[in-house]
Amino acid sequence: MDSVQAWLREQAEAIGISLNEGQLEQFELYFRLLVEWNEKMNLTGITERAAVYEKHFYDSLTVSLASDLRGERALADIGSGAGFPSIPLKIAFPQLKITIVDALAKRIRFLEEVASSLKLDGVACIHGRAEDIARLPAHRDRYDVVTARAVARLAGLNELCLPFVRDGGLFVAMKGSDLSEEIEESRFSIKQLNGELQEVKRLELPIERSERHLVLIRKVRPTPQSYPRKAGVPLKMPLL
Ligand code: SAM
Repeated sequence: MDSVQAWLREQAEAIGISLNEGQLEQFELYFRLLVEWNEKMNLTGITERAAVYEKHFYDSLTVSLASDLRGERALADIGSGAGFPSIPLKIAFPQLKITIVDALAKRIRFLEEVASSLKLDGVACIHGRAEDIARLPAHRDRYDVVTARAVARLAGLNELCLPFVRDGGLFVAMKGSDLSEEIEESRFSIKQLNGELQEVKRLELPIERSERHLVLIRKVRPTPQSYPRKAGVPLKMPLL
């Protein structure tokens, strides 16, 4: 284990996650695949190793501060891109069952390769728009936890993500700083989609010290039939 891996182990420990050697090796292999595939396709602007460990791996793990992820819980990650936050969460909590939805086929191919190289089981990678996948009975009102990082502003994002959450389950939106206006703007969509704003947790990245927020939205009743609207509409014309 080198200093970057030791750093991740220590920071994960500080938020209640213990990582063994095997899991640290999985993170390292993930890092190598990310950098290798990034030369052929656009996966991430961050490629320096310590920065990937902090801004992608550690940042993803903070979702566990919003919800207990131990046990066989079902988590859906909407607009996962290169796998954040769901792949780091799956490495740290191997019992999790994760479903990844992304509209870009080449990112889904990358994630299938990651799941197979890291020998992760219980990972389903789905190519499609969240608006369409959320209409399928196998995915609608089904997941204990739904995550999204860097996909859209909350008012539109709620319509992409809340339909996946089961009654009583949680949507965790991962956000940066300057959030108050975005939260205010999202109140109507939360109500329309049968959610309730539960909490906004403020966090800081350990080295960079930049601000992060986890917005926790509880689903209180199933999604009304009229949502999500046609693919493209939720982000173009958010519920305001
Ligand atoms: N969550 C990742 C992260 O934090 O690094 C990726 C963020 S990337 C900026 C946004 C991703 O959302 C892209 O991979 C894009 O294809 C996906 N996306 C955008 N709109 C979507 C939709 N309606 N349904 C599914 N995926 C979508």
